Amino acid sequence: MTEKMIIAIDGPAGSGKSTTAKLVAEKLGFLYIDTGAMYRAITFAAIQNNILENYEAVIQLTKNSEIKLQFNDGITKVFLNELEVTEEIRSPLVNSQVSDISKINEVREELVAKQRKMGEVGDVVMEGRDIGTVVFPNAQIKVFLTASIDKRVDRRVKEYEDNGKSVKYDDVKHNLVNRDIIDSTRTVSPLLKAEEALEIDTSNLSIDEQVEKIVKLVEEYRINKQKV
Ligand code: C5P
Repeated sequence: MTEKMIIAIDGPAGSGKSTTAKLVAEKLGFLYIDTGAMYRAITFAAIQNNILENYEAVIQLTKNSEIKLQFNDGITKVFLNELEVTEEIRSPLVNSQVSDISKINEVREELVAKQRKMGEVGDVVMEGRDIGTVVFPNAQIKVFLTASIDKRVDRRVKEYEDNGKSVKYDDVKHNLVNRDIIDSTRTVSPLLKAEEALEIDTSNLSIDEQVEKIVKLVEEYRINKQKV
């Protein structure tokens, strides 16, 4: 029987994490888990309840909320207390607030515990900011994706346009740069490359090349395991 594995994929927004992680999971028959969707769901709920500034209330809300991720046909459907919020969690308002909510230590503790539980089944590709460093520090495969800011903005703008939404390049750039700063400078679990993670700069790679690199890592890992 092959060992059950965790593949941790971290990196900043627009680095190609989601697209790559989904395809790697599909290729290997693994479960795909988008942890950013969970921070987004809590942020959306905090906006709905008008408690963005009240961290204590946000912590309680996180403890009392049930978040479900359902991955099907390339899309993660997100449910918050049984209510579907897949579209809502991608709004510009959520984009602008999510990094501040993600700084709250107790919110992270709650969500990290949920993520560890979701990953327990094994054979999982989990993507986020702290998967290789905090959520699954013993993950067999760790990858840190990066890309130039211009490439990341281009990709995000294209994603919006493909979904029939028009956005301004400068607005998208401002949001990505802002989130990068908050995510990488926060005191709890900042966005950080795990020491042993393979860093892949995706600026000039195709999606297929990115996927191939990670699948190859998994194959090499399995071959090396058989040798010992
Ligand atoms: O991955 P995505 O861009 O949807 O994540 C949205 C936000 O959620 C990030 O900018 C970050 O603030 C937060 N996040 C996090 N830790 C994770 C995943 C996401 O802090 N593991």
